[in-house]
Amino acid sequence: MVINKVLVLGAGTMGNGIVHVFAQSGYKVIMGDISETSLEKGLNTIKKNFERQVKKGAINQDDVNQALSNITTTTDINVASDVELVIEAVTENKELKFKIFRELDEKINPNAILASNTSTISITEIAANTKRPNKVIGMHFMNPVPMMKLVEVIEGLSTDKEVYNNIIDICMKLGKTPVQANDFPGFISNRILLPFINEAIYALMENIGTVDGIDEVAKLGFAHPMGPLFLADLIGLDTCLAILEVLHKDLGDTKYRPCPLLKKIVAAGHFGRKSGKGFYDYSGEKPQPIKFIK
Ligand code: NAD
Repeated sequence: MVINKVLVLGAGTMGNGIVHVFAQSGYKVIMGDISETSLEKGLNTIKKNFERQVKKGAINQDDVNQALSNITTTTDINVASDVELVIEAVTENKELKFKIFRELDEKINPNAILASNTSTISITEIAANTKRPNKVIGMHFMNPVPMMKLVEVIEGLSTDKEVYNNIIDICMKLGKTPVQANDFPGFISNRILLPFINEAIYALMENIGTVDGIDEVAKLGFAHPMGPLFLADLIGLDTCLAILEVLHKDLGDTKYRPCPLLKKIVAAGHFGRKSGKGFYDYSGEKPQPIKFIK
């Protein structure tokens, strides 16, 4: 099936990045969200990120104008009924995703592929909420989407090989490198990354190091481009907690239990960079590490 028209549902951290790369690669993209404010914020982020690419000489202004003309926004998925591919990138919550897939299945072209950008929820379970489980697949982009090359591609138990091959081709067209992952909680990336981030939060809670001390160890000691606490803020602390809860529950192993300090910070409404505060405070010019042990 030839894919020209795409709906990306969710205009947040990941959704707007996914819209960016599809629009840049010549696809017509509808960015959908329940919130007008999120759509506005998402579109502004896309414009800012394109500006940055122009400044770096990675893309010219004509290409940006062309890409922006490929994007429309909506709060009503009925206007997207004729798309050939949907990528769902809404909040990481099982029940919400199940409900959305039931709705997409009802309202979107029955031949369309329904992909989820979920970090950890079973693609097979998501697919079971539709009458087209053979056309449901995981397409797990990395944050920030315009910069990161990797896409994990996850087949559910019933996904057609043709759908898988189609998605692999699309990843290549987007200039990404697809890697096949099996449908188990966290796939490859978050099965490895989230226990690492969680352990860093335990180290902070147990006062083994400060926020910047822990991040410096990862940067200078392991040659990571950023520390685990800075990365957790970038991912979103609510998203990190949601992923750990699924790993903990679905794998049934206490080694995945979310750190109580992470739960406490999320309960305070501090979700990291997107809310202005997490392990760092983003209100000034440079992120400032927060002192948790007074
Ligand atoms: P986010 O909180 O930044 O954005 C979520 C968006 O979903 C918001 O704009 C919200 O308004 C919208 N939304 C909520 N309910 C909706 C509904 N019923 N209909 C339409 N829109 C709705 O979250 P995010 O970080 O972009 O995460 C989105 C998905 O991507 C999650 O499944 C997450 O696990 C996954 N993911 C996140 C990262 C990351 O680093 N943040 C990386 C890879 C995958």
